[in-house]
Amino acid sequence: MYHSEPPLRLKASDLEAIEECPASAGPGSKLPQAALDRWLAVRYALEEALGNGGDVDAAVEANADWLDPVQRELVTDLVSNGVVLLWTSDADVLFDPDDNVVTVDHPELNIEFASYVQLDVTDPHDQGKLERLKIKTGKQGTSTAEAAILLTGSGAGVSFADLMLRDGTIDPIELSDAERQDALDRLYDLAGRERNLRDRRPGWQCYRCDRIARCGQYPAPVGYKVGSRQRTIRVSKSDVLHLGECHRRLAWKALHVMPKDTEDETSEAAATGLLFHEVIAIVLLADDRDAAFAKELERVSPEDRDVLSALYDRHKQIESDHVVVEYKLTEYQVGSTLVLEGLDADRNGDVRDGASVAVTVMARTDAVGRELDGTPTVIEHRTGKTSDRIDERETALYAVGVTRLLRAESVAVHQHSLGGEGEPQCIRIVYDADDLAQAEKLVENLLAPLVTWHPLDASEPSCSVGEWCTTCPYQERCERFRS
Ligand code: SF4
Ligand code: SF4
Ligand SMILES: [Zn+2]
Repeated sequence: MYHSEPPLRLKASDLEAIEECPASAGPGSKLPQAALDRWLAVRYALEEALGNGGDVDAAVEANADWLDPVQRELVTDLVSNGVVLLWTSDADVLFDPDDNVVTVDHPELNIEFASYVQLDVTDPHDQGKLERLKIKTGKQGTSTAEAAILLTGSGAGVSFADLMLRDGTIDPIELSDAERQDALDRLYDLAGRERNLRDRRPGWQCYRCDRIARCGQYPAPVGYKVGSRQRTIRVSKSDVLHLGECHRRLAWKALHVMPKDTEDETSEAAATGLLFHEVIAIVLLADDRDAAFAKELERVSPEDRDVLSALYDRHKQIESDHVVVEYKLTEYQVGSTLVLEGLDADRNGDVRDGASVAVTVMARTDAVGRELDGTPTVIEHRTGKTSDRIDERETALYAVGVTRLLRAESVAVHQHSLGGEGEPQCIRIVYDADDLAQAEKLVENLLAPLVTWHPLDASEPSCSVGEWCTTCPYQERCERFRS
């Protein structure tokens, strides 16, 4: 097909994001770039270290002198791993080869899919063979969709691999012909789909999306529009509930995107709680709930079956003398965007105060619906021992998010206390206009510290050590940077 315009170049990850939520195709706002900044620092320092005789510290100093000690350690470790990986053979390493992009044309549309490589490695004893590497500083290697682009758009004698600097491995990028074709067909299909910015599908994908402050799911105050260059901080409800304990933990996660030392561990009790949440999310929306519950039980272990049945009975006990709630959606993400005056950094790393910073806080409700009189309702199921304890920061976050989203004047937040020894109960809090104004203030005060932390310097804010450290994913790194 003939096209006079150059083809529109698309990345697989953007198309996959549109598959999860069509509204994510629009322009976002300025979320933290720490991971990308470090990736660039690693890439240039690695090239320099390979050329300077392996002096990693000098290479990092020359290419990333703006880094604070915490991020510098991270970059230094990654570059050291890269030097070990690339220096062990007598291969020729070429950074940023001229043709550093591999493309595949869409068979019908004027679109090409693209994937980039950063290094070409050739064996001096076999010039016909070329290995093309992608530099990866996180845990994720190249996706299947991107692998399909690389393997389709290249000729014979070329192979691809991920230079996994965190793990210190070189992982081949390979697919069978069938896998490759399936992945390509999927991309062709996604590229042809209509982009509908109103078709929001909130979910875990929101934690990767840069439109959180702009798409409308987590609304800013009425009449306020977050700009595409406006600094934005994204946090989850559970993140901010840790704020009373230690600021570093949240700053490292939300501002500096630091890799965790350890993956989150889920205790047995917590795992059963999660399973119950999963099951009740399906059951609540079923026409015949008991039948749906019985069906769900078939897939769980006998021990879980007993616990789940007990929790379900307690749920039904609450429902039996309860205001009628019509459940609309389960596991639904709500939240809001606050605009707070604080720090921002420009492209040169210069920091100024007095900027309008958007802070988006997101939470996953167990269910949302309406009471009989139409009052919007959020339902939380609690299965732990202290399930009758109310955290008003949490209920305020729900109340503000739901009323802004629906432009409602009141909201009822139900906490269903199913765990523990006492009788199961519904703790129902209704927010009217006055309560909502207070809830907005509470959320604002809760989030206020975030915009006072240095946007680029991970050695700020300081840490605060306590019993909460046992569940922190940064314990090891944090210990090395306590003064
Ligand atoms: S934030 Fe969530 S709902 Fe909004 S566009 Fe992104 S993925 Fe979609
Ligand atoms: S280990 Fe403790 S002090 Fe360090 S960041 Fe985590 S919670 Fe804060
Ligand atoms: Zn209730």
